[in-house]
Amino acid sequence: MLTRDGEGNAVLGKGRVDATLASAGVSTPAYVYDLDGIVGEAVELSQGFGGQHHLVAYAVKANSAGPILRALAERGVGADVVSGAELELALRCGVDPGNIVYSGVAKSAPEIDRAIAAGIFALQVESVEEIPRIAARAEALGRRVSVSVRINPGIEADTHAYIATGHDEAKFGVPRASIGDAVEALRAAPLVDLVGVGHHIGSQLTSLDEYVSAARMLVPIFATCEAAMLQSGRPALKSIDFGGGFGIDYGAGCPVRPRDFVSAVASELARAGLTHLRATVEPGRSLVGSHGVLVASVIMQKRAGERRWLMIDAGMNDLLRPALYQALHRIEPLALSAGPSDSFRVVGPVCESSDDFGAHVLPVLAPAAVVIRDAGAYGYTMASEYNGRALPSEVFTRDGAVVAVLRARSTADWVAARSAIGL
Ligand code: PLP
Repeated sequence: MLTRDGEGNAVLGKGRVDATLASAGVSTPAYVYDLDGIVGEAVELSQGFGGQHHLVAYAVKANSAGPILRALAERGVGADVVSGAELELALRCGVDPGNIVYSGVAKSAPEIDRAIAAGIFALQVESVEEIPRIAARAEALGRRVSVSVRINPGIEADTHAYIATGHDEAKFGVPRASIGDAVEALRAAPLVDLVGVGHHIGSQLTSLDEYVSAARMLVPIFATCEAAMLQSGRPALKSIDFGGGFGIDYGAGCPVRPRDFVSAVASELARAGLTHLRATVEPGRSLVGSHGVLVASVIMQKRAGERRWLMIDAGMNDLLRPALYQALHRIEPLALSAGPSDSFRVVGPVCESSDDFGAHVLPVLAPAAVVIRDAGAYGYTMASEYNGRALPSEVFTRDGAVVAVLRARSTADWVAARSAIGL
């Protein structure tokens, strides 16, 4: 969480952001993260479950940095991965395979093979058609495989259309009308063990309503699937997965806390007599979002009549959310100063009109650097080298001290890589 010290300097966790960058020896644009804050979010989320048996499986897509994964894995947090690369990374960073779930609508055969070989908790099946594909790989390898069926509950979450995933038009999950077919396909696959059911209705949810409605829909689906498995002599299911999506406060307020979501589903499970199940959640944004900032230097100002632009050295290639989802991140001077302020459009150097971080009130006498708040989730992981720009550096702190640095590649390295012939 970003705060200010008595002199108005930006402080993340316990570290002054300018001092952190200086001690890491990196230049802007750079992400800075507070690992204590991230771990604290996971601990608080776990507490929200009360006595319910549970697993917090961190959605690696939100931020795949090794220091973050390692810090979470040390606290017993699992991982929700969506590619073979994320799976490999989670294993390398010490996540227990028994705490890994693997989502994704189109897993390749090598990715399925790797998940089977690693013995992860569950491959999340997103279509009926995926079941015979997974069964064929299990047979080819002569291994059993655990799967969980991700249901599409047909619920329209109140969030940006690009991050709503549980409605009828979405490519994700097995439609409710096809659950019977999924059960039949599982019955026909002797090496495939159904260990649970789940869903994920969307991201940046700021109300409990749809989340709880989806959970209420999932409980009877769980019962139907388990009864069908038991009838065919298969084992009882072990888990029920409610996905992630817990919203954070980007500045406009957020009336619910992440732990409110898990407390609500824990109550549903208690009511249904299902406290023995491992209730799984897959939070990404809510663990990392508020504990990371993107620091950028101010390059110059531009004026045209009444219009003012503040041009910074971070662009849409470093933080895509504003261009992709019209997201608004708070942008503030790295060090607060006295003096008049005005409204500026803050823009980056990328040659796209969408390279625009929105209107912000900032000092007329431009600060040397700005801090873009709440950039810990879907920031670096969506960054690109567009326009020949290096991926930003990343600095990780604990107790205010730098504990890891992932440095930006130099321009010379980029030119060398892109000019190579590769034969
Ligand atoms: N689980 C699945 C299957 C997802 O697709 C996503 C994100 O889209 C998440 C979890 C994490 O969502 P969030 O970062 O909003 O918690």
